[in-house]
Amino acid sequence: MVSVVDTLIPEGPQGRILIVEDSQFFMHVLKRRIGQDLGFDIIAAETLAEARAAIAAHGADLFLCLIDLILPDAPNGEIVDLMTENKLPTVVFTGAFSEDLREQVLSLNVIDYVTKDSPASLEYLVSMVRRLCLNSLLKAIVVDDSKTARAYIRDLLRLYRFQVLEAANGEEALELLKEHPDARLVVTDYYMPKVDGFELTKQIRKTHSRAQLAVIGVSTGGSAPLSARFIKYGANDFINKPFLREEFFCRIAQNMDNLDYINALSQAAQLDPLTGLHNRRFLYEAAGKSLAAALRAGGRPAVAVVDLDNFKAINDTYGHDVGDQVLVALAEVLRTTIKRKSDIVARFGGEEFNIFTPDLHPALAFTFFDGVRAAVGEKCIDIPNIGTIQVTCSIGVTVQAEEDLRIMIQRADALLYRAKETGRNRVVVDNPAASEQATDTPHSVAPPATTPSEV
Ligand code: GH3
Ligand code: MG
Ligand code: MG
Repeated sequence: MVSVVDTLIPEGPQGRILIVEDSQFFMHVLKRRIGQDLGFDIIAAETLAEARAAIAAHGADLFLCLIDLILPDAPNGEIVDLMTENKLPTVVFTGAFSEDLREQVLSLNVIDYVTKDSPASLEYLVSMVRRLCLNSLLKAIVVDDSKTARAYIRDLLRLYRFQVLEAANGEEALELLKEHPDARLVVTDYYMPKVDGFELTKQIRKTHSRAQLAVIGVSTGGSAPLSARFIKYGANDFINKPFLREEFFCRIAQNMDNLDYINALSQAAQLDPLTGLHNRRFLYEAAGKSLAAALRAGGRPAVAVVDLDNFKAINDTYGHDVGDQVLVALAEVLRTTIKRKSDIVARFGGEEFNIFTPDLHPALAFTFFDGVRAAVGEKCIDIPNIGTIQVTCSIGVTVQAEEDLRIMIQRADALLYRAKETGRNRVVVDNPAASEQATDTPHSVAPPATTPSEV
């Protein structure tokens, strides 16, 4: 099953990963889970010699190396030296686990180690690769007045593939955050001149919520009150110094995963799952704000309601699944014909769609939405084993601004019914300019009659 966080990995090739592993079974599983599922190009090597050749060929563009510690031609972990010599970001896995081995491996500059002893460790490895991939897209800010402490955390975060920025105190960190408002992680010391860790956290929370930016406090002293206070000021987490590198990585990964989950959920809550368009809730929220801003700025907002004609007949004739495919195709037409970034296209429910535009000249409203109507009618929707389906839609448009979005939607809906009553496949606008010039009825046009759906 694909989790919400899986969907956050951008589409397309993620880069190359070198896997060095002599077990064909494990290699096969990793190729599937990391190659196919996460979208990485896998370079496979079974021996130290093959790994050396692969590094010679691809060294510079390897995103990550996953290496088995025991290989036929390198039974004592010699492969790790090859990785460190080439400064390659490396995760080690091994069949056998011992405390000595753990210490030895972590004393080298590898990212982490994983034992191959259970399906859970495979999941851990996969989630780690996904995390490292996501980290590489994220900016992290390290704040510490001690140069050495800062460099230590900076190097760890770099090892975890973050894009790292540095600040020597809270004041500098706030400046950096102004320049990089998209930063997703701040790791901050407490004791610092000028602005300390608490004050920094407090200031950050004025502009960035806990779901937008994780703040993690780090300080010495084993002081419980310090950790509690950090969290009360708005930090996501706190780590006591000295810490184990493994713990640091797990905490960072967990906090970043939490941010991703919250964001994926809130995004999903704003989208219609069938068409990927915004949903009704988002429309009310976003268009409500945009309407208020438009009215303040003297814009001319418009609301349109688009409804498919005789859609029930499509469901009745071809089944609900085909009906769904028609809705998806219609959504695509709306997405491509309504291009302005400030416009909001939403699926209002069923086969009814809603368009909000913050500024459209009333005299152009009819032509614009008649273009949308025509694009829907011209769309040939290919349905496997059935053929091509074409559908028409009717559109009601109000260009009369109201402070309350609901009133504009109700009015557009009433105009839509006028379009349905007067023959469908048409646009009705309450454009006062048009009605003054021509007639006192809303402006509408009936194009040549077409069958509502053709196969
Ligand atoms: P009109 O031209 O008057 O709008 O006729 P219509 O048949 O399009 O309208 P009506 O409101 O009678 O029927 C709408 C149909 O849309 C009925 C309902 O089953 C179908 N529908 C609503 N939501 C979905 C959906 O998510 N998928 C599918 N396939 N059909 C849906
Ligand atoms: Mg309909
Ligand atoms: Mg309807």
